[in-house]
Amino acid sequence: MSDRIPPVLTVRHASMAYPGGVHALDDVSLAIGTGELLAIVGPSGSGKSTLLNIMGTLDRPTSGTVEIGGRDVSSLSDRRLSALRGRWLGFVFQQFHLTEGLTAAENVATGLLYAGVPRGRRRPLALAALARVGLGHRAGHLSHQLSGGERQRVAIARALVNNPALVLADEPTGALDTANGRAVLELLTELNGEGTTIAIITHDRDIAERLPRRVEILDGRLVADTYEGS
Ligand code: ADP
Repeated sequence: MSDRIPPVLTVRHASMAYPGGVHALDDVSLAIGTGELLAIVGPSGSGKSTLLNIMGTLDRPTSGTVEIGGRDVSSLSDRRLSALRGRWLGFVFQQFHLTEGLTAAENVATGLLYAGVPRGRRRPLALAALARVGLGHRAGHLSHQLSGGERQRVAIARALVNNPALVLADEPTGALDTANGRAVLELLTELNGEGTTIAIITHDRDIAERLPRRVEILDGRLVADTYEGS
């Protein structure tokens, strides 16, 4: 990574204490560079969702900072934060979170709602994103007409449609059978090969081991950060 290009996302000394004395995160620091594909891996309750919410600027840490594109986001208003999130980040969830009653193309186009893309530009961008995930032929299908694997691919297209600097995928294969889970992981790997930066949050060590970088979380602490071959 060049010295002049800041990481896409940097977490510095982030801690999160919930009321009742739960320390869900304890002094976690982490930088994600452009073009990376990494797993954030740990058992249930280790703090992964808390870290994801902080990285995704959905929650503010109790202490510590998050920088996106080199900019500390802690002083931004909620409105500016959501604009920055819409421009820089894409989200993929375990349960897809597609809107019933919308077609695949319409669901993907919702990924552009907060990015200030004019209405007339949304559909062609959505169709292009669906083509990237191999679902160009399903653009007019409603979500209940799609298989679980296809729904997750639509959700991935929605995350990609605005060309975000970083895609955060929270247990993206967790609701899928083995074959579909594997296909979704292959798709994410392929998209990374085309230049998309992706962080996959998972409890599954087998998934983590197939990725080039693994950040391990245990009891709210970052306990290992290893790269392929190391
Ligand atoms: P994971 O995603 O790895 O399963 P979480 O980040 O969800 O872990 O949780 C980490 C710890 O923080 C757990 O002990 C959990 O019970 C606690 N926790 C998570 N969210 C809250 C909350 N809103 N209030 C209180 N405790 C919470």
